[in-house]
Amino acid sequence: MTEFCDVALPVPLDIVFTYAVPEGMQPVLGGRVLVPFRQQRMSGIVTALHDHNPKVKSKNLISVLDAAPVLDEQLIRLGQWIADYYLAPIGEVFRTMLPLGAEFKKAVGYSITEEGHMALHLAGITGSSARSQKTPEDQLAEFRVLDYLAEREMTREESLEGKINSNQQTLIDTLAAAGGRAPVDALQSLEVPRSTLNTLAKRGLVEIVEEPAEFTVSVLKARPSLFDSQFNLAQQAALKSIQQSVNTRKFAGMLLHGVTGSGKTAIYLSAMRAVLEAGRSAILLVPEIGLTPAVAADLHQLFGEGVAILHSALSNQERAEQWHRIKRGDARMVVGTRSAVFAPVTDLALVIVDEEQDPSYKQEEMPRYHARDVAVMRDKMANAAAVLGSATPSLESYFNAKKGKYKLLELPDRVEQRPLPEVEIIDMRQEFQETGSEQVISRKLAEEIKERLERKEQVMVLLNRRGYSPVVLCRVCGRTLECKNCAIAMTHHKRSRRMECHYCGYTAPVPKACIHCGSEYVYFLGTGSEKLEELLHGMFPQARIGRLDRDTVRGREDFERALNALDEGELDLLVGTQMIAKGHDIHGVTLVGVVGADMALGFPDFRAAERTFQLLTQVEGRAGRGQTPGKVVLQTYFPDHYAVQYAAQHDFTGFYEKELRFRSWMHYPPYSALANVLVRSDKLDEALQWSGILGKWFEKNRHEGIRVLGPAAAPILRLNRDYRYHFVVKSASREKLNTLLRTMLAYAAQQKIPRSQVIVDVDAVWLM
Ligand SMILES: [Zn+2]
Ligand SMILES: [Zn+2]
Repeated sequence: MTEFCDVALPVPLDIVFTYAVPEGMQPVLGGRVLVPFRQQRMSGIVTALHDHNPKVKSKNLISVLDAAPVLDEQLIRLGQWIADYYLAPIGEVFRTMLPLGAEFKKAVGYSITEEGHMALHLAGITGSSARSQKTPEDQLAEFRVLDYLAEREMTREESLEGKINSNQQTLIDTLAAAGGRAPVDALQSLEVPRSTLNTLAKRGLVEIVEEPAEFTVSVLKARPSLFDSQFNLAQQAALKSIQQSVNTRKFAGMLLHGVTGSGKTAIYLSAMRAVLEAGRSAILLVPEIGLTPAVAADLHQLFGEGVAILHSALSNQERAEQWHRIKRGDARMVVGTRSAVFAPVTDLALVIVDEEQDPSYKQEEMPRYHARDVAVMRDKMANAAAVLGSATPSLESYFNAKKGKYKLLELPDRVEQRPLPEVEIIDMRQEFQETGSEQVISRKLAEEIKERLERKEQVMVLLNRRGYSPVVLCRVCGRTLECKNCAIAMTHHKRSRRMECHYCGYTAPVPKACIHCGSEYVYFLGTGSEKLEELLHGMFPQARIGRLDRDTVRGREDFERALNALDEGELDLLVGTQMIAKGHDIHGVTLVGVVGADMALGFPDFRAAERTFQLLTQVEGRAGRGQTPGKVVLQTYFPDHYAVQYAAQHDFTGFYEKELRFRSWMHYPPYSALANVLVRSDKLDEALQWSGILGKWFEKNRHEGIRVLGPAAAPILRLNRDYRYHFVVKSASREKLNTLLRTMLAYAAQQKIPRSQVIVDVDAVWLM
């Protein structure tokens, strides 16, 4: 007999809470319940049903929200794995996995209003509706109605007043069946007069909401089908391997390492189509910027209504609707960014992670999970296949492939045997000596650009720093203008006439005098993409120049528009930050200039070389994707650095061997599990005191095989008003590492250091 249930609540505590189950209520494992928690009502996920009387008296459930689980047994296990592996509170993990928050914000974004749900439900219980099956959504509607009644102390009979006629009923039922909302046009197919809708709206049972047009409408012209070209032998072999693994219904991890332009996307889509034809499900994860409207249009063309596209521009409401579509089995192909890894598909056969090295797969807030690694774990639980794809795999994934944990699938050639571009390195220190001044664009690059423009070919120039000038310096007192929230120099943005902090977004007016000493000798130093665009305009006044960075791109549509303009030949030259390096395919570009991509090499982060190598390789990959071979002019102050050298030679293996030796000496991943423990407070004293307390604890609790560095000031000491100190903890044994960190968290709680101020970032991708 179920007397109690354990509930995971979305609060920063590493425990579940026990509630008593009142007579007549039937909570289900993996379903949601509404409970009282600290003077609030909160919804949580049931993680256990039992009859062990807890020591403290437990409160009653308020209501049961789901008659069937919203998280199936596998997803619950996955959530528990995440909580364990990333040391994250289980309730926070479940909240992240379940994008249904919108359903609890009363009447916000719901087309059927509270009263509408009541009408719907009452119709159901009085028998005028023919719905036979109770879905979780019905259950939810029921909750909302009952909740509403309870709040207003009404009885069911009272609320039956104000009858609903059959037209109105039809309309409400249709809306409910469509997940609570539908386009007004779609209702025309019902044999219901338009006035019915207006009547319902007037009565407050339905609301009519105006929305922006469909996301999937693309500004691009229809693209030739991705299957038009024949697969080359390497592509065929890779596809065959993936399909064989899928068919075994056993876990298989694969790393698809293909040079830029080798046709990875076509393989992904073919493999997914085969899964769809077999009646099973597949998930394709893409990096944040990868999901443009054109890509969405392609996917619709290929999979029709069978695809759900989860991108970051969705409202909470839309996200919830997509979730229900997937849960019902209406969409079995799921494409999306990070959190799509939690899509509630059934019979999962395949998860593909495109550009698996992309840092956007790591969530930088609680729970700090890495979607690639969660995908692999989910596949293991589901006996499905995992394909990680990249031109520049992460060290971790390539290491796993070399050790035989993943099968390595290689695409060594570009499609149609197009050559990789020739890369010429320009030593900017020498350029300075020969020209006698600091150059932004070297003589060689200027000459090459001029040639391309004369030949009506296209050029991309990368400078991975946005804004006009990154530093404002006072020549009298030597100080810079820093953000008031962060220990970071503010960047001058010329067109918008303001100073901006690129970390917290704080803006300030452009200073006419030094804010520290009042001197008028303030200098704007360095070059960002905005200034580079201006410089290029000055050098090539005839050229049509566009810029692609976070200042010119507000959304995916802007991103696509700029690329489209380049593709259509409306631009001669495109300047931009790393955005221009991402995997798009524009055939007219024959020259790529790299003006600043090696700044990161100076960062105190063990992944700096890896990131620089990846960025250089990706941007090089934009050159020569059409008929004319490409060229890259790579300007650098570190011409001898191995990341630069290997990128110039397109030598992934060489880079990988060298970097791996360095990681091994320094006990960094993939040779160690690593966690960054950050202690933060808006009061410097507190941050110092807490990191001191934990420092002493780590000192006293030295464990064999665990290295603790710190406490040290974080490379960015102050961020978003918080002072930050950190520890880097490494161990060859992940189990030992996690045990130590868990004990540390318990000690921190004992010392009254708030959980939210001690951030444990397992497998951190940034140590800044
Ligand atoms: Zn000054
Ligand atoms: Zn700031």
